[in-house]
Amino acid sequence: MAASYDILIIGGGGAGLTAALYASRAKLNTALFEKLVPGGQIALTDIVENYPGFPEGVTGGDISNRMAEQAKKYGTIFFYETVESIKKVGQLFEVKTNKLTHQAKSIIIASGAFYRQIGVPGEKELIGKGVSYCAVCDGAFFKGKEIVVIGGGDSAMQEGLFLTRFVTKLTVIHRRDKLRASAILQERAKTNPKIHFIWDSVITSIQGSGKVDGVRLKNVKTGEEQDLKTNGVFVFIGQDPATQFLKGVVQLDEKGYVVTKENLETSVPGIFACGEVRKGAVKQLVSACGEGCEAALAAQAYVENMN
Ligand SMILES: Cc1cc2nc3c(=O)[nH]c(=O)nc-3n(C[C@H](O)[C@H](O)[C@H](O)COP(=O)(O)OP(=O)(O)OC[C@H]3O[C@@H](n4cnc5c(N)ncnc54)[C@H](O)[C@@H]3O)c2cc1C
Repeated sequence: MAASYDILIIGGGGAGLTAALYASRAKLNTALFEKLVPGGQIALTDIVENYPGFPEGVTGGDISNRMAEQAKKYGTIFFYETVESIKKVGQLFEVKTNKLTHQAKSIIIASGAFYRQIGVPGEKELIGKGVSYCAVCDGAFFKGKEIVVIGGGDSAMQEGLFLTRFVTKLTVIHRRDKLRASAILQERAKTNPKIHFIWDSVITSIQGSGKVDGVRLKNVKTGEEQDLKTNGVFVFIGQDPATQFLKGVVQLDEKGYVVTKENLETSVPGIFACGEVRKGAVKQLVSACGEGCEAALAAQAYVENMN
């Protein structure tokens, strides 16, 4: 058994790192568990232009490192371990990772979510370099450019319509010959002069060195292949919360997101959740950080009431 903490944070994205900053700066004994690198999703992106305080923008790597440094400065202890389960033992929580079992008075879940990828060559390499999963985050980088959108559901159409504010041409690539989106969104998309459709087709690779310059398409009915020049690929085929380890621990909604009360407490007293892992969260860095602060203050109150 490893040491015991006042607050144990699961996930080192914007939400977890902000929770860590607030908890450790309040002189609580704080540990943060991250399975990959600090920063979470934002560490993947080239440049962030909508985080306040950086008028020139800031790279995803830079803001991730700065947030981690700030939390460490006030005493947060970082562990690079994957949390596998949580259970309550007496007044404390026992958190089992792939390496050890740790104890804490209170837990903050900040394990985030991940966008579903299409899984073709070039996709991973070009994330943040023309491949995107977020219109609000990256739309403005594509002013005057041509892009493709993958997906045929409501979110693909909604995000696609938003992207027409910036781009000159948007081509929806869809594996079927009709969309799944609601009738009203379909009509808006189909009557928008900037939006074009390529039906019955999938992307088989994304091309470009350093930035996207094209995609290879395959017609799923005829098998015919073609290259299409494009500046960007926006993928909208869904998002999954990182909550496998929480099944049967706290209440999750039908998609697996953590359900919270007003103070970000989950169905289990002493366990709080913040950021994209939470049902109803806005999927932006600044809101993840805001929720991290809120969860830390609520966890602090919980711990202080225990003593
Ligand atoms: C390519 C890209 C570009 C983006 N650009 C912008 C932008 O310009 N502006 C903006 O506001 N937002 C942007 N976003 C969205 C923004 O990154 C997210 O809203 C924000 O990162 C959410 O933070 P989070 O802390 O809730 O979750 P995440 O960032 O998802 O962090 C969760 C962390 O938890 C860790 N974790 C998960 N499970 C476990 C476990 N079991 N044990 C230990 N650790 C675990 C993960 O490894 C991850 O590091 C972008 C997202 C992407 C993918």
